Amino acid sequence: MEEGRADQAERERKEKRRTFAEYRLPAQSRRFNVYLRSERLGVSGVVDAVLELTNRSIDEVDSQGLDPERPYFAPVEYKSTQERVGRHHLLQLAGYAALLSDITGTSVPFGYFVSLPNGRASRVELSEKAREEFLSCVQGIRNMVVECRMPEPTPSRAKCRDCEFRRFCNDVW
Ligand code: SF4
Repeated sequence: MEEGRADQAERERKEKRRTFAEYRLPAQSRRFNVYLRSERLGVSGVVDAVLELTNRSIDEVDSQGLDPERPYFAPVEYKSTQERVGRHHLLQLAGYAALLSDITGTSVPFGYFVSLPNGRASRVELSEKAREEFLSCVQGIRNMVVECRMPEPTPSRAKCRDCEFRRFCNDVW
């Protein structure tokens, strides 16, 4: 996690000097570590960055009446490895898209993963299905909390290696 934070600080430093060319978007600005919260969805989180494809920030859109069908905001997540984008990454990005969409009332149909080792930005389409899958996962977690159930340990022990919960996980350690 510390390595990830150091990588991200370096990325922010470099990224602040860059144009939006690597995203192939006419973005106006970007903000880092944006706290997103929706009462309606019952979800909150901090997304690594938000691209603002308009000269209005997410704080202003409520009163500005943007076209709800058009994308004006895109979530960005940084990855400190070159590993393939997995389902959990996609769900996480879909979750940020759902939050952005709910907060701004506009469509958020794509986002980006940026690989910190090579600086490459990959655009990901975030379908309605991905969003529904994210919300279904959230509901599954809520059900576990209500029923006092613990999730099963991952069948892939490789994932435990860098897990931040490893110290507390009685399932396999
Ligand atoms: S250490 Fe426990 S919580 Fe973490 S990935 Fe492994 S099984 Fe899951």
